[in-house]
Amino acid sequence: MVSNKAVIILSGGMDSTTLLYDILNQGYEVYALSINYNQRHSKELEFARKTCKKLNIPHKIIDLIQAGKELLYRSALTSEDTQVPEGNYKEENMKLTVVPNRNMIFLSLAVGYAISLRAKKVFYGAHAGDHAVYPDCRKEFVEAMKRAISLADWEPVELEAPYLDLDKGDIVKKGAQLGVDYSLTWTCYKGQDKACGKCGACNERLEAFKKAGIPDPIIYK
Ligand SMILES: [Zn+2]
Repeated sequence: MVSNKAVIILSGGMDSTTLLYDILNQGYEVYALSINYNQRHSKELEFARKTCKKLNIPHKIIDLIQAGKELLYRSALTSEDTQVPEGNYKEENMKLTVVPNRNMIFLSLAVGYAISLRAKKVFYGAHAGDHAVYPDCRKEFVEAMKRAISLADWEPVELEAPYLDLDKGDIVKKGAQLGVDYSLTWTCYKGQDKACGKCGACNERLEAFKKAGIPDPIIYK
């Protein structure tokens, strides 16, 4: 029988959480992987944990705090010295939130986990809204990673990024149909008590719910 196991990189944000519901709905036996890379908003991991508990699926949170601090520090998300920019994703300063080569690192770990589990697929939630800011969410990057990942083991592992052509509004619409509990997702880059409503991530989230015509269940500052 062909393995129905799949690994998903789950940040605790809206996109990967929607993708988790989506692939469970498609019948995959899902294993979720979250990474602590010393992100300012590491409270997102707590939301990932809650979602997995609610859906009763296995979840691992892997500690890369040291790597985040000592190697991946050129980002407002991993360095205390750079402020999280406020405003819209279309602005140039949003590139301050790029974490150096984050997705390749995460995908490498997810593929290693998939090979250990004998899972055939790895899912991640890159979407169209990311392309302008995050180099490792570009189609070209995903295509190149697909090729490399297919060669990472003697048995091919497939990378799936099914939201690559969807924007965040489309994802929320899809999530609403799938019954995603968005109160258990965290988006704000500032990682404070309540979402700030001003950073690029908050703005994009607010726009997405507006576009989808669905109320956002979280509380803003
Ligand atoms: Zn925010």
